[in-house]
Amino acid sequence: MTDSQETTIIYNATLLLEDAYGEWEFQTGGIRIHQGKIVQLGRGVELSGCGEVPEERTWDAKGAYLTPAFTNAHAHSYTGLLKRTVDRRTLDLYMLEVIALGTDRSLDLIYDATLLHASELISWGYARTVDHFSQRPFPTREGMEAAIQAYRDIGMKAVIAPMFSDIPYLETLPNQMQMSSVRATASARPADEIRNYERLLRESSVRLQGSRDIQVALGVDGPQRCTKDTLAMTASLMRELDIGWQTHLLESHTQWSYGKERDISLPTMLDGYGLLGPKTSLVHAIWLADEECERIARNGSHIVHCPTSNMHLGSGISPLQTYRRNGVQVFLGSDGDNCGTSSPYELMRTAARLSRLDGDNASDWWGAQDAYESQISVSTLFPEVLGKGRLSVGEPADWIAYRPESFRVTTPEELFKELVYYETGRSVEAVMIDGNWKIKDGVPLRAWRNKLERAQKNMDVVLVESAEKLKQAGALFHIVQESAEASRGIVRENWVGNPRKIGL
Ligand SMILES: [Zn+2]
Repeated sequence: MTDSQETTIIYNATLLLEDAYGEWEFQTGGIRIHQGKIVQLGRGVELSGCGEVPEERTWDAKGAYLTPAFTNAHAHSYTGLLKRTVDRRTLDLYMLEVIALGTDRSLDLIYDATLLHASELISWGYARTVDHFSQRPFPTREGMEAAIQAYRDIGMKAVIAPMFSDIPYLETLPNQMQMSSVRATASARPADEIRNYERLLRESSVRLQGSRDIQVALGVDGPQRCTKDTLAMTASLMRELDIGWQTHLLESHTQWSYGKERDISLPTMLDGYGLLGPKTSLVHAIWLADEECERIARNGSHIVHCPTSNMHLGSGISPLQTYRRNGVQVFLGSDGDNCGTSSPYELMRTAARLSRLDGDNASDWWGAQDAYESQISVSTLFPEVLGKGRLSVGEPADWIAYRPESFRVTTPEELFKELVYYETGRSVEAVMIDGNWKIKDGVPLRAWRNKLERAQKNMDVVLVESAEKLKQAGALFHIVQESAEASRGIVRENWVGNPRKIGL
C-alpha cells in the first residue's frame, strides 16, 4: 500500500494560498490528505480531533512554509544520461552530438535515463513535467512504455510528447544548398514513419485516457524539420484528440536565417496549418519578431522560456518584455539536463534578471512574483487531472516545505523574493507528490536512491562507449560552422530591432 491510500495530516504549517480573488496570502494551519488529494486545508486542520490517524501519519511542520510543488513546462528525459557532457557548444553543434548519442538506445537505457532525469526533477521539488520525449531514429510504443514505467516507479507526473521530424537536421541549416557535403547526406524519411507516428499518438491517447499520472501530447521537433504532410497531420490530430502540441521554435539565429532565406516566417507558417491555438506550446521563441509575437498572442498559444539552456548554448536573450507587452503567457522549462541546471531557483532568477537586459523601463521587467508564478503554474499541455499547481481542496497533494529557520518572511511577496533571488534548494525540508513523501527531513527517500545507483553505473558505461559516436559527430562540425557564419551575415543585414545576441 502506498502512502497515498491513507489519510495524512500535516499541521502547524504556514501555507501559501490564493484567496477567492486570486491574491496570495499566508494562512497558519495544515493539510488533511486522503488518497493523494487535499480534502481539507487551512486554519481548521489541527492535530487535535485527528485521533483516527495514527501518529506516524501526522507531521508537525513546526511553522515550515508550505508552497505548491514546481512544474516543468519543457524537458527531455533522454538527457538524464548526458548530464555533464556539454560545454562550449552552440545549439547546432550540440544537436549533432546529441543526435549521435541518443540514437538506438535500448529500452533499459530509456528507462534509466528517465529515472535519472525524474529523480533530479523530484529532488528540486517538481511534481510534473512535459517530457519532449526523444527516441531516435523514431519513437515507439515500447520506448514510451519504458519511460512511463520509470515515471511511475519514481512517482512523478508527466505529459509525454514524443518528438518527431522527417527532414534531416543538416538540411535545415541556412546556406546548405551551397554545400555539397550536406546534399550528399540528405535522405528523406519514409512516408510510413509519419503514419507510424500518427498511430502511436492515437494508441497512446486511448491507452492513457483517464490516467491520473501520465498523459500524451504531440511533440514536433521543430517546424523547419517537418514536411508539409507531417505538419498537416499533427494539426488535425491535435484537434481530433484534443491534446497539446509542443515544438522548439526559433531557438537559434540559424533557424531564423533558414526562414529568411526562404522568405517565410515560421510562426506564420504554423498559423497557416492551424497549429497556433490554445493547446500550442512554443519552446524558446528567442528569434521572434514583434509581429510574430502578436500573432502568437492573438491565437492564445503560450511560450516556454528556458533561460538556463538558452544561455548555456549561447542561443540568445528571449524578448521577455515583448511577450509581456503582447500578453503572451509564459511558463518556465529546464530543457535538457545536459544544457544547464534544472534548478527551479536558478531558472526563476535567471528569467527575472535576463528580462532586465531587454530594455530600460523597469516597469516592464519581470519581478519575483512573475518568475515564481511561471514556475509553479501549469500550461495547457497539462490536463487537469495532473494538478493545477496550487494548494486547494480537491487538488493532488503536491507541495514543498521550507524550513522556517532558513529565512524569516512575513508576506508572500517576501517569500517570492527569497525563493527567486536567494534560495538554492538547501532550505527544503520535505516534498510530497500525490500524497507520497519524496523528501523528508531534507533527504530523498531511499527506495528510489537504490534504483538510481544502477542507472548511474549504466550511464557511466554508455558514456565510455560514446567516444566513437562523438568523433563521428565532430567530423560534421565544419558544416555547421560554415552555416553559422553565413547565418551571422544574414542576421547582420536583415534583423530589425534589439539584437537577441550581443556581438553577432
Ligand atoms: Zn528542448
